[in-house]
Amino acid sequence: AVMAGGSIATISEVIGEVQRGVGASERLLQLLASRSDISAGSQVLPVTNQPPTIDFADILFHYPDSAPLFTNLNLHVAAGETVALVGPSGAGKSTLFHLLLRFYQPQQGQITLNGEPIDRFTLNSLRQQIAIVTQEPVVFATTVMENIRYGNSHASDDDICQAAKAAFAHEFIDQLPQRYHTELGERGVRLSGGQRQRIAIARAILADRPVLLLDEATSALDANSERRVQQALNRLMHGRTTIVIAHRLATVQHADRIVVMDKGKITSTGTHDELIENDMLYREYAELQLLS
Ligand code: ADP
Ligand code: MG
Repeated sequence: AVMAGGSIATISEVIGEVQRGVGASERLLQLLASRSDISAGSQVLPVTNQPPTIDFADILFHYPDSAPLFTNLNLHVAAGETVALVGPSGAGKSTLFHLLLRFYQPQQGQITLNGEPIDRFTLNSLRQQIAIVTQEPVVFATTVMENIRYGNSHASDDDICQAAKAAFAHEFIDQLPQRYHTELGERGVRLSGGQRQRIAIARAILADRPVLLLDEATSALDANSERRVQQALNRLMHGRTTIVIAHRLATVQHADRIVVMDKGKITSTGTHDELIENDMLYREYAELQLLS
C-alpha cells in the first residue's frame, strides 16, 4: 500500500486533519472519500485521555441496497477494555468499525460513547477520539519521519523518535540508510509487512487517542516481527478502549474479552479459556491459529 508522491495532498484533503494520524488503509480512505454525506450533530466532543465506554444498542443495519446485516446487535465495551472480534469473513466485524466511525449509520438503534449518542457530535470531534490501525497501513512516499508525523502534525522530531521506540520501530529505522530521513515508497526503501505495521503503530502512539480500532493483518509475519508487533500493540492498547479484529492467537489471549461473530450476529463471548471450553466455532479457529 504505497502511495505515489503526487497523491499525498489529495489524500490529506480527503481524510483531513482528523484521520491523518492513523494507519488507515487505502480501502478506508476510499470509504472516507465516498461517505462525506453523513448527517452529524453540532456538539464538539472534547479531546481527553480518559478511555470511554462504547455501546452498540439494538442495532439494525443494512448497507444500501443490501439485505439486513445486523438485526438486533448489542455490544458493550467497558472503559479501557480490550475486546477482540473473531469470526469468518463477512460476519460484520469491519462494519462495526464503519458504524462507530460514522461512515454509515444504523437504520435503528444507537451507538454511544460514555452513554452519549455519537450522532450528537461533529464527525471531526468524534473521529478525533479514535485511532485506527488497519491490515494494510498506508505508507506515503516521503521520509520515515514524515510518515510517523502523520500521527500528529505538531509532533517534534524527538516525539517521533520516542513514538518509534515505543512501537519497537526505532531498531529497524536505525538500520535504514538515512535512518529517520530515509525515503519510503515506490522509489525509496520498501518495508516489510511487520515494519509497515510498526510505523502505523508509532503513528497511533503519537496520535494518542482514547479509542483504538485495530484490524490485524491476516498474512503471517516472521517470528521476530510478530513478537515485536505484539509488544508494540500491547503498549498501544494500554489505557485505551480497544476493539480489535483479531487474527492472531496472541491477541485473543491478551484480550479482556473475545466476541465471536457470524453472519451479523454475536454467537458467544468470553475469555479464550471459556470459549475453548464452550464454543465449537471458536475452538476450530483457535486450532487453525485464528489465521483465517
Ligand atoms: P467482516 O469484516 O467480518 O469480514 P464485513 O463487515 O466486512 O465483515 O462485511 C459484512 C457484510 O457486509 C458482508 O456480507 C459484506 O459483503 C457486506 N459489506 C461490507 N461492506 C459493504 C459495503 N460497503 N456495501 C455493501 N455491502 C457491504
Ligand atoms: Mg473485515
